[in-house]
Amino acid sequence: MAFEILAPSGVVPAIMQAVDGTLAAVRPGAIAVIGALGTGAVIAGQALAGWLLADFGSGVIHWAQDRYGSPRWPLVGGIVRDTIRHHRKPMGFLEKPVLARSARMIGLALVVLTALLVAGAPLAFALPLSAGIFLSNEIHAAAHAKARSLPRPVRALQQIGLIQSPLHHAAHHRHLKNVNFCTLTDWMNPVLERVRFWRRLEALIRYTAGVRIRRDPVVRRQQRRRWKAA
Ligand SMILES: [Zn+2]
Ligand SMILES: [Zn+2]
Repeated sequence: MAFEILAPSGVVPAIMQAVDGTLAAVRPGAIAVIGALGTGAVIAGQALAGWLLADFGSGVIHWAQDRYGSPRWPLVGGIVRDTIRHHRKPMGFLEKPVLARSARMIGLALVVLTALLVAGAPLAFALPLSAGIFLSNEIHAAAHAKARSLPRPVRALQQIGLIQSPLHHAAHHRHLKNVNFCTLTDWMNPVLERVRFWRRLEALIRYTAGVRIRRDPVVRRQQRRRWKAA
């Protein structure tokens, strides 16, 4: 009886009907918004995965050159020579024109992009991955350039670490060229260094194939200076 006073017959069904009507009207929009957010998250995840994979790839190539590459190797000896030259004179490659500095990476990026598209990889993954390869040496160059010579957006990207910051990259040159091999972002190196990825990989190569790392002359000089100062 009391319920009927508070909610006379017909009011509750009317409210329920109104709620049902509102939900029915809102549902397609909500489903569309949730769908769009889900699609956006998947695309962002694929893009980040592509960019970080390019960063990891830059680390693998750089590590192989620094730790095992020989300037006398056929075909890739020139690349190793460039890297040794870069360790000796880090700002030197800033004087080169963009094409002279990045032609090899641009070529590699185009090959990777073509292979990924032929294999049916999602564009959201393939484009950032190939863009990362395409730009890797220019981002490396920006990490050596004077801050005032860089456009503001580039400095902003360096600050958040989406492209490598000068301070982060300096650790590679300051140490014995044995840390921070990845040159695209500030995010991949800390993970790899924390799990001692390169050291473990070098130990595995030494134990399984008996191949030891090569130290370039710049590193040997750096070590002698440290021993004398100690
Ligand atoms: Zn460098
Ligand atoms: Zn190096």
